[in-house]
Amino acid sequence: MPAKILKIAVPVPLYKCFDYLPAKDTQESVIAGSRVIVPFGKRQLVGIVIAELQQSDIAVSKLKSVIQLLPQPLPAELLDLLQWAASYYQHPLGETLNHALPALLRQVDQKQLLASCWQLSELGQQQEPATLTRAPRQAELLRQLLAQPKGMDKTQLDQLDFNWRDSLRALEKKHWVIRLSQQQAGALHQPALSVSAKPELNTEQTDCVERVANSLDQFQAFLLDGITGSGKTEVYLQLTEQVLLKNQQSLILVPEINLTPQLISRFEQRFSVPIAVLHSGLNNSQRLLAWQQARDNQVKIIIGTRSALFTPLAQPGLIIIDEEHDSSYKQQDNFRYHARDLALVRAKRLNIPLLMGSATPSLESLFNCQQGRYQRLQLRHRAGLASPPAIQLLDARRKPMQQGLSGHLLEAIRETVASGSQVLLFLNRRGYAPTLLCHECGWVMPCPRCDARLTYHHYRQLMRCHHCGHESRPPESCPQCQCTELVNIGIGTERLEQHLKQLFPEQTISRIDSDTTSRKGSLDKKLAEAHSGEADILIGTQMLAKGHDFPHLTLVGILDVDSSLFSSDFRAPEFMAQQLIQVAGRAGRADKPGRVIIQTHHPQHPLLQTLLQHGYAEFAKTALAERQLASFPPYSALALLRAEASQAHLAVKFLEQAFSRLSPYQPAVELFGPFPSPMERRAGRYRHQLLIQSNSRAALQQCMNQVIHTLVDLPDANKVRWSIDIDPQSMF
Ligand code: ADP
Ligand code: ZN
Ligand code: ZN
Repeated sequence: MPAKILKIAVPVPLYKCFDYLPAKDTQESVIAGSRVIVPFGKRQLVGIVIAELQQSDIAVSKLKSVIQLLPQPLPAELLDLLQWAASYYQHPLGETLNHALPALLRQVDQKQLLASCWQLSELGQQQEPATLTRAPRQAELLRQLLAQPKGMDKTQLDQLDFNWRDSLRALEKKHWVIRLSQQQAGALHQPALSVSAKPELNTEQTDCVERVANSLDQFQAFLLDGITGSGKTEVYLQLTEQVLLKNQQSLILVPEINLTPQLISRFEQRFSVPIAVLHSGLNNSQRLLAWQQARDNQVKIIIGTRSALFTPLAQPGLIIIDEEHDSSYKQQDNFRYHARDLALVRAKRLNIPLLMGSATPSLESLFNCQQGRYQRLQLRHRAGLASPPAIQLLDARRKPMQQGLSGHLLEAIRETVASGSQVLLFLNRRGYAPTLLCHECGWVMPCPRCDARLTYHHYRQLMRCHHCGHESRPPESCPQCQCTELVNIGIGTERLEQHLKQLFPEQTISRIDSDTTSRKGSLDKKLAEAHSGEADILIGTQMLAKGHDFPHLTLVGILDVDSSLFSSDFRAPEFMAQQLIQVAGRAGRADKPGRVIIQTHHPQHPLLQTLLQHGYAEFAKTALAERQLASFPPYSALALLRAEASQAHLAVKFLEQAFSRLSPYQPAVELFGPFPSPMERRAGRYRHQLLIQSNSRAALQQCMNQVIHTLVDLPDANKVRWSIDIDPQSMF
C-alpha cells in the first residue's frame, strides 16, 4: 500500500501546491477542502487540502507531515469555485483560497476560534438590571447582555470601559450567565417566517418577478434594468420571499454596506427571519459566526459586499447583485476578481438564477443581453407617484462663476432652500483647493513621491497627496522664486462648504466626503441628517452618488462634469454617464418633483448630448458601437501586466522580458507596451504596464495559463513588484 500523500494549497504567492504526508497518528479522515496546519520553511501556515495523491515527484522520505488537521473545512462547492477563479484570474491558488476564508479560519493560532461567548441563561433573561443597585458594573453587564441575545465574546466585552471579568464571574455564580463555544452561539432561534405589509406590484414589476420566479431551481442570468425609484428593491424583496417559502437562501450583494442602510432595513422590516449582514465593521468572531450560520442554513438571507460572494450556502436559491455596474465589485489588488462575473459562474454551478439590477447597467451586461446570454427585465416608470427629474445642461462658458457656482445654479439653490426643500451639490474633489500656485513664476506644489499635485486642506492647514497620503505644511514662499504670493487654485468640497456657509448663514450645510466621515459612526450620523431633512444643503463626492433615498431632496447641482469628459481611460465615458444618471436619480421622489442642473464648459459634447436628449440606453448603444470600432471590451478580452520598481528602468526591463515570453502567442493575442502608467510615479515607485489583448477570450486564457507562472523565474522578477489583472476595470 503506497503512502497516501496530500496535495495542499498554502497561502504563499507561488503558482503551485505542495505535497505533504498526512498528520501522524490521525484517525480522522481528510477530505478535499480540509484545513490543515503545515510546516512551511520556518513558519507554520494553514493550508487547504486539494487532493489525495498516490505518489509525489518528491521522495517520500523528504516530505514533511501535516502538523494538525483542523475542523471546519472549506465546503466543496466553494473549493471548486475558487479553483476555477484562481485559474481564471491567474492568482496563486493558496492565496485565493485564503482570501475567501474568514480570518479566524486562516489563523494557525486556534485559541480565538475556540474562544467563548457568554449568553444570559433563562434565569438571567428574567432579571432587571435596576435591582443590582449595589453592583453597578454587574448591572451594566446585564444590560449589555440583555441587548445582545446572541451573546457577547471577549472582543465585544473588551469594549466595556471596566474590568468585565469579575462582574461576569459574579453573574455566572448566580447562574444568570452561561458560557458557550462560538459554535454553539451560532445556533439561532428560528422564528416562523412572517412577512410584513408590502405594496401591490405594478404590471412591470409583476412581470419581472414572475419571469425570475419561473426559473428558480435553474440557472438563468437576468438584468433588471430599471430607473432609480422604479421599484427594483421591491422586486428583490418579493423574490426573496418566494425563495424563503421554498426554504432556500438568498445571497444579496451590494456595493457598500455603509451607503445602503435603507436596503438592509427594508429587508429587516419585511421578514421575521434572521439576516446575516457582512460588512467591514464586523469583528473576526462575528464574521466567522455569519459564515457558519450561512453554511448551516441558520440564516436564509445574507447581505454583504463583494467578498460576501464567498459565503457558504446550505440551500442556495437566488443570488442578487444590486447596482451591478458599480466598480466596487472589482477587487483592485491581490486577488483581482470581479464579484459580478464570479457570481455568474457560481450561480451556473449551483443551478440557480442570478438577478443583477441597475439604473445604469454596465456596457458588459447590456452586451450580454444583446447576445442572449442574459434576459433583460425593464422597469421604465417610477413606482408610486414620483415623476423623473428635469435635467438641464448649463453652459458655463464666459459666465461669471463664484467659487465654482454659476449665477443660475446659485439662484436655483436660493429658491429651493427658500421653499424648504433640500439641495445636493456634487463635486468629486475633496479638500480645499487642488492646486497651490505661485502667482509670480507659476510653480505648483507637487507631491515629492508622485506625479501629482498636492491638495490644500484648509481645516488642518496641510498640503496632502490624495494618491499616497503624503502630508506637509504649506510653504511660506515659493521655493523657486521666493515670492510669498502663493494662491489656491480650484475648488474642493471644503472650499465650497466655506463659501456656502457665508452665503447661507441660516441654513444647515453638511459636507459628506471621506474627510468628514472617517470617524466611526460619523457617516451614519450625516446620512441620517440628510435623510431627515435636517441638512438643507448637502455637499458630496461620489460617496453620495449611490443608493440613497433623500425624501426632501429636489435640486441636484453637478459642478464639475468636465473633468470626466476628457480622460484617457476607455471606460471613463461609461463611468461618467453612470455617475451622472445616478446622482440625478437622487432628486425628487415621492410627491416632490426634482430638478438637476449640470454645469459644463462643453455643452455640445456628443456624450452629454446623447445622454441627456435620449437617455442612458441610447448613450450605452453609442458607447458600445465605439467600443466595437476600437476593439475594446466587451468586444475583446484584456489582461494588464503591471510592474513597479524603485527605478523606472527595472520595471521596463521586467516587462520587456515578459513581452518576449508572451510574443510566441502573437497574433492570437496582441501585445501593447510596455508603457508608463498614466501616473508613472506614485508613492516613490515607478509604474509601467503591458497590455495583452485578444478577440478570443479562450486564446487569452490559454496564453496566460502557459506564461504567468513562468514570470516568477524571469531574471528581473525579484527586482519589481508585479501583478496580473484579468479584465482590468481601470488602466491605472
Ligand atoms: P429602486 O430600488 O428601483 O430605486 P425602490 O424599490 O426603492 O426602487 O422603490 C422606490 C419607492 O417606491 C420606494 O419608496 C418603494 O417603497 C416604492 N414602491 C416600490 N414599488 C412600489 C409599488 N408597487 N407600489 C407602491 N410603491 C412602491
Ligand atoms: Zn515662484
Ligand atoms: Zn503622493
